[in-house]
Amino acid sequence: MIRIPRQLRGDICAEGEAAYPDECCGIMLGTVDAEGSRSVTELQPMRNARESGERYHRFRIEADDILRAERSAAGNGLEIVGFYHSHPDNPAAPSDYDREHALPWYAYVIVEVTQSRARRIRCWQLAGDRSRFLRERMHTLERE
Ligand SMILES: [Zn+2]
Repeated sequence: MIRIPRQLRGDICAEGEAAYPDECCGIMLGTVDAEGSRSVTELQPMRNARESGERYHRFRIEADDILRAERSAAGNGLEIVGFYHSHPDNPAAPSDYDREHALPWYAYVIVEVTQSRARRIRCWQLAGDRSRFLRERMHTLERE
């Protein structure tokens, strides 16, 4: 389960709308409690490092950018709990490309943006054997 403040959930949708028809992408920073459930406390929008002709259906975050985000998060007692990106005119479900590039444990939030409007937002986690994604429950917090 992942907890996310309504404000940040809205921010992901707004970013997806702003990036349309390309994919937006970013890192979710937060905390992990003793039971392993995650709370998002901060978003770090990232540059989509895919070449321009590919950004409408793919995203990539450079390893250097992830490392930088991880370092600055650690300085604030936070860690990377997952990643988010948008699917312009496609369902909020991971693509084969997403699965091939995903890492275990992290939460993957995907927002469907249809004709510039954010629709569904869903959270996923890679199965242990990497064969597929499993839905992860997203709990929206009304206030931080
Ligand atoms: Zn995707």
